[in-house]
Amino acid sequence: MHKSVKIVGGGIIGLYLARELSRNGIDTELFESKRRVGEGAERASGILSKAGLERLGISPGRSLVNELDGVVVESNGRVMRVRSRNTEAYVLDRGIMAESMAREAVEAGATIHTGRRLSIPELRALADEEANILVGADGAVSSVARGFGFDGIEEHILTYKAEFSGARIRDTRSVGLVFSKDIAYRFFGWIVPYSDSKVEVGVGTSVKGGMNSREAFDRLVRIGMVREYISDAECVGRHASIIPIARRRHTVIGNVMLVGDAAGQTKATTGGGIVFGMSCANVAVESISRHIERGAPLGYYERAWRSRYGLDLRMHDILHTFYSEFDGSFSRIIGMANRLGIDRFFSTYGDMDSPSLMLKRLFFRYIFG
Ligand SMILES: Cc1cc2nc3c(=O)[nH]c(=O)nc-3n(C[C@H](O)[C@H](O)[C@H](O)COP(=O)(O)OP(=O)(O)OC[C@H]3O[C@@H](n4cnc5c(N)ncnc54)[C@H](O)[C@@H]3O)c2cc1C
Repeated sequence: MHKSVKIVGGGIIGLYLARELSRNGIDTELFESKRRVGEGAERASGILSKAGLERLGISPGRSLVNELDGVVVESNGRVMRVRSRNTEAYVLDRGIMAESMAREAVEAGATIHTGRRLSIPELRALADEEANILVGADGAVSSVARGFGFDGIEEHILTYKAEFSGARIRDTRSVGLVFSKDIAYRFFGWIVPYSDSKVEVGVGTSVKGGMNSREAFDRLVRIGMVREYISDAECVGRHASIIPIARRRHTVIGNVMLVGDAAGQTKATTGGGIVFGMSCANVAVESISRHIERGAPLGYYERAWRSRYGLDLRMHDILHTFYSEFDGSFSRIIGMANRLGIDRFFSTYGDMDSPSLMLKRLFFRYIFG
C-alpha cells in the first residue's frame, strides 16, 4: 500500500522532518496554521550550539545573526565568566531559518499548506486512513497529543522576552544568564546580544511557581547587569510564549507520532529544543522508512530516540534540579567555582547539548593526557 506522511505543524521541527522525509523519497504533506512559515518565529530565540548544528550537517548560512564564545553567569551579585577559544554557539534568525528549511523541503518534493489549522475531527479523519502516518509537530500545546489521548507534559516554562535597539553592548560574544529565585522559579533570565546595538532580554519561570512571566521580566530588568545593557535603548518588540521541559511518557500511539516540542524533546536546563528536536526527527525518519519498507512497527521511534538521547536528557534534568534547588546558595557556588577554576573546565570541555560528551572528553583527556 502506498503510504503517506501527514505532518501537523510547520515550526522548525516539522519543516526539518518534511525535508528529511522527502529527501528519503517518502510522500510528505505538511499543514501549518499560520499564513506563512516562520511567521511569529521571533517569539523564540535561536541560540544553537555550533557542535550540534555540525552533527546535523546544518550550516547557519543567511540566518546567522551573531557568534558566541562566552557566558556570564550572575546570581545575587556574584558573577562567573566562562570564555572559550572558539565560537561555541550561533544566534540565528529563526524566521529566515524556517523559510529556507521550507524551501528545501518543497524542493525535495514535500507539499506545504499554510493557513490550514487542523481541528481534532480533521486530525482523526487523517489518522483513520490506513495509508497515512500522522505526525504531530504542533508545538508545546499539541492538538495531536490532546486528540489522540497522549499523556500530558509535567512541567512548562512561561517565557517573556523583549528586543532592544540602540543598546550599548561592549561584549557582543557573551550571553548573560541570571539565576535568582527572587526573579524566576526553576528557570532564569537571559541577555542575548545580536550585535553591538541590538540585544534580547528574556526570562522564563516554571508554571509550578505560580508566577507571572511578565512580572518576572519586570523584576529582571531592574537588576544592575541587565540595566547596563538596555539603558537608553528602545524596546522594539515583546513576546510571551511557553516551553515544555519534560518529555511525554509516550510519543507513538498506533500510526500517530509526536516530535519536537509536542513530544517534550527539549533540554530541561535551558529549554533549547531545536538540536534535540531535529535529532529526534532523524530517528522518526528512520522509523518511518523501516515501517514503509518492511512493515516494522513505528514503536521503533519511541525506543530509539529514548535510548540514543535519554542519557543526555536525564543529565539535563539533574542539572536543572541542581540549579533550581540550590538557588539560595547559587551565588556561593559561583564564588567556589571561580576559586576552583571550574570556569576553565567548562571553557575546555563544555558542550551545550551533550553533558555526556563533555564527561567523555574529560575522561579521554585524563586517560590520554
Ligand atoms: C522564548 C524562547 C526562547 C527559546 N530559545 C531557544 C534557543 O535559543 N535554542 C533552542 O534550541 N530552542 C529555543 N527555544 C525552544 C524552541 O523554540 C522550540 O524547541 C522549537 O521551536 C520547537 O519547534 P517545534 O517545531 O517543535 O514547535 P513550534 O515552533 O511550536 O511549531 C509548532 C507549529 O505548529 C503549528 N500548529 C499548531 N497546531 C496546529 C494545528 N492544529 N494545525 C496546523 N498547525 C498547527 C503552529 O502554528 C506552529 O507553527 C526557545 C523557546 C522559547 C519560547
